[in-house]
Amino acid sequence: MLAPTPDVLLTPERIWTGDGKTHSGWAVLIAQERIRAVGPRQSIDESEGVERIDLPGMTLLPGLIDLHSHLLLHAYNEATWDDQVMRESVEYRTLRAARHLDATLQAGFTTLRDLGTEGAFYPDVALKRAIAEGVVSGPRLYVATRAIVASHSYGPAARNFRPDMALPQGGQEVTGIDAIVKAVREQDSHGADWIKVYADYRTGPNGALRPTFSQEELNVLVQTAHDAGRPVSAHAMHDEAMRRAVLAGANTIEHGYGGSEETFGLMAERNVAFLPTLTAAEAIAEYFHGHTRGGPPTLAMQEAARAFQLARQLDVVIGCGSDVGIFAHGTNARELEWMVKLGMTPLEALRCATSVAAGILGKNSDLGQIRAGFFADLAAFEGDPTVDIAALWNARWVMKDARICRH
Ligand SMILES: [Zn+2]
Repeated sequence: MLAPTPDVLLTPERIWTGDGKTHSGWAVLIAQERIRAVGPRQSIDESEGVERIDLPGMTLLPGLIDLHSHLLLHAYNEATWDDQVMRESVEYRTLRAARHLDATLQAGFTTLRDLGTEGAFYPDVALKRAIAEGVVSGPRLYVATRAIVASHSYGPAARNFRPDMALPQGGQEVTGIDAIVKAVREQDSHGADWIKVYADYRTGPNGALRPTFSQEELNVLVQTAHDAGRPVSAHAMHDEAMRRAVLAGANTIEHGYGGSEETFGLMAERNVAFLPTLTAAEAIAEYFHGHTRGGPPTLAMQEAARAFQLARQLDVVIGCGSDVGIFAHGTNARELEWMVKLGMTPLEALRCATSVAAGILGKNSDLGQIRAGFFADLAAFEGDPTVDIAALWNARWVMKDARICRH
């Protein structure tokens, strides 16, 4: 097991606790593996033997949270999704994932919700255990294991191969109610914290987006997951698929690029959170549609931007969920930059990756704020990301679970 860490007093240039404004001259005391106190330096009682860490010029934030990652994938300009699923062994992908974990943590992201291993079965559960035991370093993980897809709807797509070829699949295929119930329970038993379902995919004529599950099927999936105490994340870009997932009781909607005003309104009403994956749209445009970063957005990027702005207008709960894995691990901050580019203030965007994200995880009394009693997950950045979001590229010091991971 991990050795206990000594008590630490942190004195950064300024602190943003995950709520309200930033404070200068504040300090944070970490004791017995948790945040013990935060406030003006002179208000904190400092006992004997406390190690002091000065962080001059730095802003201390709660450790950042990305609610949509794929640790078992790497950037699609290195290998296409099909190639990763078909040509890379689970062992190889797991070893790569260990490096992805470290890159993420070094960038100041101390929690990930990893939404599916994309054909690699259950190594996310093993990685989570190895991190918790200190075998490898990485963020706190909430994992979804295999993800559930309608049979013959996901990838690699049969239409792209000779018809007699047996293809591995990127998710657990199910047909019918019984198989759905069984898959949810199977994934739960293997250690899924969340159930991820693909509520739509490119199954229509010419690869058009279509809902993949009926309302009844989604209802059963969500009911089974909720009975087992697991929230549900639904991949949905098609408006009808989004609507069905929301009506079924899904807890979060991923992507949502085609969402209508009515559907986002329903999400706001039912407190269903939205993860806009803006960077995914940009990365796909870059890799496959000749987009250059900073150049005019493609149609798909415009759709993603429209959905984000509409959701914001309608007061939908928005979390930071980037779909990292499509693009390089450790560059999760791109998502926050996009949120700011599309109208949020840096503070609003930071809330999406801290206190709001913790709420979506159902962990808002442990995570996402620098507050007495909370987990000691912290990241310090040179400059001030609450004023200039680009300062998120300057992670200099990171602590997770009271252990210093970068200094
Ligand atoms: Zn994804």
